[in-house]
Amino acid sequence: MRLIRLELSGFKSFAGTVELPFESGVTAIVGPNGCGKSNISDAVRWVLGEQSPRLLRGGKMEDVIFQGSTGRRPVNVAEVSLVFDNSDGSLPLAYQEVVVTRRLSRSGQSDYLLNRSPVRLRDIQDMLRGTGLGADAAVVMEAKMIEALLSEKAEERRALFEEAAGIGLYRDRKKSTERRLEETAVAAWRASVARRSASTRCAPSASASP
Ligand code: ATP
Repeated sequence: MRLIRLELSGFKSFAGTVELPFESGVTAIVGPNGCGKSNISDAVRWVLGEQSPRLLRGGKMEDVIFQGSTGRRPVNVAEVSLVFDNSDGSLPLAYQEVVVTRRLSRSGQSDYLLNRSPVRLRDIQDMLRGTGLGADAAVVMEAKMIEALLSEKAEERRALFEEAAGIGLYRDRKKSTERRLEETAVAAWRASVARRSASTRCAPSASASP
C-alpha cells in the first residue's frame, strides 16, 4: 500500500481543487512561511478523522473550510481525499486504488467516503488500523509527538507505539465490549429485582391458604 495522491478542494488556503502526487521515494514540500505547508499536513490529519479543531490549528471544525481571500470568495464545502495504491492488497478491499475522502459543508453536514461511497468514520478507522495509518497513529509527527516519544513516561511512549502497531483497534473493541458487559450486568440485576418483587406480590398469603 502506498500513498499516491492527496486531493484538496476548499480546504484552508486551497480554494480550488489541487492534486498533489506522491512519487516513490521521499517527497518534501518547501515554501516560504505562511504559504500553506502545514495546511497540507492538517489535511492528512483531517481526512484520517481528526476530531480536534485545536490540533488542526483552528477554533472550530468549520475553520478548515476556505474562508476567502482578497481575490477569492469563500467556499461552502471542504473536501480532502487520500488516494492509495492497493495493488499489493494491504487494504481489505478488492480495489487497486483506494480513495478515502472526508467532506464538510458550512451547513454542518459531514461525510466520510470510501471510493466515493458514503461510510462511517469507524469503517475507515477499522480499515486503516493495522496498516499504521489513522488519526492517532503518528502519521503526522509534530514536535509534541516527538516529545512524547522521548518522554520519560512509559505510558506516553507506549500509547504511540500501540497505535502505530495497530493494537488500538483491539483496545477500542475491548473497551466497547466491557461497556456492553457492564450494561448487560446492570440489566440482569434490574430484571432479578423486578422478578423478586413480582414473586413477592404474587406469593399466596398465609390466610388465603386452605
Ligand atoms: P509556516 O511556515 O509559517 O508554518 P506554512 O507554510 O506551514 O507556514 P500554513 O500555516 O499552513 O503555512 O498556512 C497558513 C495560511 O493559510 C495563512 O495564510 C492562512 O490565512 C491560510 N488559511 C488557513 N486557514 C484558512 C481558511 N480556512 N481559509 C483561507 N485561508 C486559510
